Amino acid sequence: MARPTLARILTGNLRHNARRVREEAPRSRIMACVKADAYGHGITTASEALNDIVDGFAVACISEALALRDAGIKKPVLMLEGPQSPDEVPEAAHKDLTLCVNEWHQLEWLEKAGLSAPLACWLKIDTGMHRLGFSPQRTAEALQRLERKAKNPELVLCTHFSSADLPKDNGVEAQVRAFDEVAATTAYAHSLANSAAILTIPESHRHWVRPGYMLYGGSPLADAAAATLNLKPAMEFVAEVISVRDVSVGERVGYRGRWEARRPSRIATVAAGYGDGYPRHAPDGTPVFINGKVAPLAGRVSMDMITVDVTEHPDIAVGAKAVLWGGEPTVDEVATAADTIGYEILAGMPKRVPRVVE
Ligand code: PLP
Repeated sequence: MARPTLARILTGNLRHNARRVREEAPRSRIMACVKADAYGHGITTASEALNDIVDGFAVACISEALALRDAGIKKPVLMLEGPQSPDEVPEAAHKDLTLCVNEWHQLEWLEKAGLSAPLACWLKIDTGMHRLGFSPQRTAEALQRLERKAKNPELVLCTHFSSADLPKDNGVEAQVRAFDEVAATTAYAHSLANSAAILTIPESHRHWVRPGYMLYGGSPLADAAAATLNLKPAMEFVAEVISVRDVSVGERVGYRGRWEARRPSRIATVAAGYGDGYPRHAPDGTPVFINGKVAPLAGRVSMDMITVDVTEHPDIAVGAKAVLWGGEPTVDEVATAADTIGYEILAGMPKRVPRVVE
């Protein structure tokens, strides 16, 4: 029998969330971010589920782009980080991939590639994230050089927000202004918005939006829960209770005895640990739902198991179903408790957890 630990991938919810993007940004085309194995959901599963709703797919690197072409995806596939070696330029051209050109050396690779036809390209402007992209001062020069190599008028100018998830003092206005100062002098299409900006900054929607996290049903906003945004979890991470035991007052549970019983207690052991993607730093009290009832994590997270205080629920027995996230609790709640973000938890889901596509 297989280990009772799995991630249900809920394609209906994935599609619902993509329609929510359409609702929020009705005049924009949707470039769905499916990098990092579609934030842990499975790049083939996610792209097939989204293919008839969205207009293209964004990935980080060429191996992810080729996985999409191998899966039969014909829509535009954008490599957000651009080529990482000169060889990737002809390979991208051969597979009709779209290159985001972020750096001068990437531009040089394009110029030297001797391509027989122009390439689909985006050009990134660094408006404040200071991670990738051309400075606004030198964008015109980069653009002039790229125009000779890129398929026109398909060229898209893009930028990325650093803090659109914050409700105020997020620097978005300044970034939009810096972008427009450069982009408004051209006739090219624009792309600025990630999930947070799709939900809160209509002015940033423009020609292409680039949702990631909201597609998977997490809240990209620091001050709003996913359900209030009408987003539904695309992953439910479940495992079974594999042991139940009673512990007396003063007995300790788990590595280094972090949790101590202050009353006669019942502990359920659930078959999922940090080796399955459950965050190791989750503190005592992190909510776990067993048989639909909330119970607090009790003791350090092990590689293959967690221990949960089910004293309040005497009916919980071996074989009971635990939901680690997806529905209740949400991945955002678990992430907050563990002092991380849902993005990290989902993208870090290891292959050993079977994905069951529904
Ligand atoms: N665009 C770029 C350039 C990104 O790096 C990312 C994600 O990191 C996204 C869009 C999607 O962001 P989110 O998942 O917050 O929607």
